[in-house]
Amino acid sequence: MVIITHQRDKCIGCNYCVELAYQRWRMSKKDGKATLLGAENKKGFHTVRVDDAEFDDNERAAKACPVNIIQVKMI
Ligand code: SF4
Repeated sequence: MVIITHQRDKCIGCNYCVELAYQRWRMSKKDGKATLLGAENKKGFHTVRVDDAEFDDNERAAKACPVNIIQVKMI
């Protein structure tokens, strides 16, 4: 199991996460920020649990994020 967390308020809308892990990320047309699909928002931290198969792409997205607001943890 993998936990992905996104501090959405700090997103600058660069699109890297969408390019690297399209199965889990989309850009919002409303506010130009990335949305972590399936995530639950708890006080600004958007979190979702996903299968291990999604680890690599999301880990790449986390490393590419210029403001370092994506966390990917294998549990
Ligand atoms: S890579 Fe980071 S800053 Fe860029 S859109 Fe994704 S979450 Fe936002």
